[in-house]
Amino acid sequence: MSYSTLSAGSSVLPLQQADALLVAENLDKSFVLHPQGGVRLPVLKGVSLTIQPGECVALQGPSGSGKSTFMRSLYANYRIDSGHIWVKHQGHWVDLPQLEPHQLMAVRQYTLGYVSQFLRVIPRVPAIEVAAEPLMDFGVEPEIAKEKIRQLFTQLNLPERLWQLSPTTFSGGEKQRVNIARAFAVDYPILLLDEPTSALDAANREVVMQLIAAHKVKGCGMVGIFHDDEVRERVCDRSLCFEEFN
Ligand code: ADP
Ligand code: MG
Repeated sequence: MSYSTLSAGSSVLPLQQADALLVAENLDKSFVLHPQGGVRLPVLKGVSLTIQPGECVALQGPSGSGKSTFMRSLYANYRIDSGHIWVKHQGHWVDLPQLEPHQLMAVRQYTLGYVSQFLRVIPRVPAIEVAAEPLMDFGVEPEIAKEKIRQLFTQLNLPERLWQLSPTTFSGGEKQRVNIARAFAVDYPILLLDEPTSALDAANREVVMQLIAAHKVKGCGMVGIFHDDEVRERVCDRSLCFEEFN
C-alpha cells in the first residue's frame, strides 16, 4: 500500500486507517450566498468519517443539518474549504479535493459510485442503456452489461415494456429503480446512497435492502441517507449524526 503525498503541505493518511476504504478528515464547508450580500453559511465543521469494507454508515440528523452537503462533498461535487477525503483507489490512497479532473473521473469510474436522488435522463436513450452505461465504462462488454441490467430490472420489478423506452416519462419510482440498477450493477468498492428508497413501494424497498446486504458481503463500504427508519435500522451498522449549525 502506498500513500499519496500529492502536494507540498498535504498531510498523509494516518497509519491506523490503512485497512479502510475512505477516510474523511475534518471537513469544513461553508456556502457563500453571493446574491445575498456574500453572507457565509457554515454547514460542516470538523466532520470526520472512516468507512471500512463491508459496512454501511447512516448519515442522520434534522433537515438542513448538512447530510446532503457532506455526501456531495464526499463525491467531490462540492468543493470543501478544508480537510481531506482519502479514497483507496486501485491500491493507492488519493485525496479527492487535490485531484485533477481526469483523476477524479477515474475514481468515479472504478472506485466511488453514487446513487443520486434523481436520475439525469437524456431523451431518446433507452432505460436499459442508461442503466448499463457505468458498467460498460467499468470495462464490461455491452452484451454482458445489458444482461446484468435485465436481471436487476427484473429483480426490481421494472416492467419489461419500459426497458427500451427513455426514462424521461417514467414515474419517480421507475426512475429511481433505473438509478439503483445503474449503480448496483457495478462492484464499486465504495457506494454513496442519497435516499435510494424514497420513491419506492414496500416490495421494491425490500429488494434494495437485499442489494445493499449483498454488496456488504462482497466488501463494499457504503454511506447512506435513509429517511425510512426501518430501512436504516436494517441495513446500517452505525450512524454519523449531524446537528444544525448555530
Ligand atoms: P440536509 O441534507 O441535512 O437536509 P443540506 O446539506 O441539504 O441538509 O443543507 C444544509 C444547509 O446548507 C441548509 O441550510 C441549506 O440551505 C444549505 N445549502 C445546501 N446546499 C446549498 C447550496 N448549494 N447553496 C447554498 N446553501 C446551501
Ligand atoms: Mg438532504
